[in-house]
Amino acid sequence: MQWDDETLDWVYEKTDGYCRYCEKKLSRLNYASLGDRGAWEVDHSVPLALGGTDYLSNLWPACIECNRNKGTMMGPQYKRLFQAPRQSSSRGPGVLETLAGAFLLYLFLRALSQPKSD
Ligand SMILES: [Zn+2]
Repeated sequence: MQWDDETLDWVYEKTDGYCRYCEKKLSRLNYASLGDRGAWEVDHSVPLALGGTDYLSNLWPACIECNRNKGTMMGPQYKRLFQAPRQSSSRGPGVLETLAGAFLLYLFLRALSQPKSD
């Protein structure tokens, strides 16, 4: 797909020149310039293969790596891959905390279910 400069400017400005997904800084001049610093492509948020359009509302700037990895995933679906690890490491409980919590719950329930001896 060939985009005219006006469209490329518009898409690039949509995120102030950052990859929509990994938020890497992109270089406007290195459009489709694979291997160059800040190289990027126009990403179809809804892939053409899934019925996406060439309307500006469906176009986002993405570094070439993200665009290629995304494949036929929906934009928001792919973006979650970048958000999920950050949330779970800062807020969510780790595996050990979860296991310890489950064990305490088990002890508590077992104590409740035991008949009183007196
Ligand atoms: Zn990226």
